[in-house]
Amino acid sequence: MSNNHVSTNLVRIVILGGGYAGVMAALRLANRTRGESVQITLVNGRDTFIERTRLHEATVGNHPPAPPLSTMLGEAGIHFVHGWVKGLDPARRTVQIDAIQADRASHPQTLAYDKLIYALGSFTALSGLPGAAEYALPVERHDAIATRLAQLPSGARVLVIGAGLTGLEVATEIAERYPHLAVAMVTGSKVGQDLAPAGQRYLRNALRKLGVEVHEQTRLARLEDGMAIAANGATLPFDLSIMSAGFAVSKLAREAGLAVNGRGQVLVDPYLRSVSQPAIYAAGDAATMEEGCPVTLRMACATALPMSAHAAENVARTVRGIAEEPFRFGYFVRCISLGRRAALVQFVDAADRPRRWVLTGRVGMWVKENILRWVMSSLHGEKRRATYMWPQLQSTVAPLRETQTTELQQAQG
Ligand SMILES: Cc1cc2nc3c(=O)[nH]c(=O)nc-3n(C[C@H](O)[C@H](O)[C@H](O)COP(=O)(O)OP(=O)(O)OC[C@H]3O[C@@H](n4cnc5c(N)ncnc54)[C@H](O)[C@@H]3O)c2cc1C
Repeated sequence: MSNNHVSTNLVRIVILGGGYAGVMAALRLANRTRGESVQITLVNGRDTFIERTRLHEATVGNHPPAPPLSTMLGEAGIHFVHGWVKGLDPARRTVQIDAIQADRASHPQTLAYDKLIYALGSFTALSGLPGAAEYALPVERHDAIATRLAQLPSGARVLVIGAGLTGLEVATEIAERYPHLAVAMVTGSKVGQDLAPAGQRYLRNALRKLGVEVHEQTRLARLEDGMAIAANGATLPFDLSIMSAGFAVSKLAREAGLAVNGRGQVLVDPYLRSVSQPAIYAAGDAATMEEGCPVTLRMACATALPMSAHAAENVARTVRGIAEEPFRFGYFVRCISLGRRAALVQFVDAADRPRRWVLTGRVGMWVKENILRWVMSSLHGEKRRATYMWPQLQSTVAPLRETQTTELQQAQG
């Protein structure tokens, strides 16, 4: 099927990616364009919604529900295309996809758009460490990790590479679920270095109680079969290694000629439009603010939802012929689960810098769990009404450039 033959006034809006950002964008758009002549299509490579913030739970076999995207979106009148995006042609305003049929066969398809929201998210980076692709499993391969963990004998060594929020959640989840395994983490920096002193103390104590051995300031040079080799020559043997040292993004934006940063994230202006292709908006892990904007965005669900809701609001504004608004946003907390019984909630300022206060233990877990549930209920709630709101604590916009000021003045008449 193609969406190329349309009546002249129909606005075709295509959303790439069906994670937090893509689904929120699609549902918010459906809410804000009711009664308008629009066609909203979302493309995703999987036909179910993956609650990625719970993937560490899946590594020990606890799978979160995975609702079908066709149901989540269909109820709001959004057309879902199950398929992998293969290319983007901003000049022709088309997207090439490999659409997946009910019998799992795939066939090439071209989708035309008037406005596009790029929300292809991220995945665990494997390319930064030689040997990682061969000898380590990323959290996305949670089923393979769960199978291996269940087979490992007592005393077997599990090495988690990376000690960011995800690495900490993976290591503690495994250590709690499999106390008979020897779980270790390795990081080139210090564990919890972005936390307030109270948070650091609590985190170190929690790791010690769970028996997680921590190798800090140990930069790995490569992985071999069963062995991590540090730059200083030290060796860390393992029976299973799990890669969790940062996120990478799809090459598609760069290949399509969009302005991207070094990592490949689409550079957006304060209105969340690509700085090089204003018909393309980007949100979530796949996007970042252009240089000069007074905010850095952390790759997080906590960022993906507000960005995507705002991008959708702006696309809807263009459909209704009113001026777009700059993105405002601020962080509030950072949450790290430490197994199923405890979590650390670090309060942060709007720019994501740690404040003094933390919540810990079961209280922390209660807060973290309720935030994750609230995220899902917000998405489901958007099927009916635009109810999701986010903290607009910080003016995240750079002073408007001259061209944008002119555009705004024109749009406002
Ligand atoms: C274990 C773990 C725990 C986390 N915990 C937290 C947390 O507590 N709080 C928090 O804020 N963040 C957390 N995060 C980070 C958070 O999950 C991500 O920042 C968030 O998922 C980003 O949302 P997104 O919609 O941009 O991307 P994603 O959720 O990655 O969604 C992108 C979608 O695009 C699809 N896609 C990608 N490429 C293609 C293609 N070529 N064609 C078609 N479809 C494609 C993917 O299949 C996916 O469905 C965690 C991450 C992990 C891994």
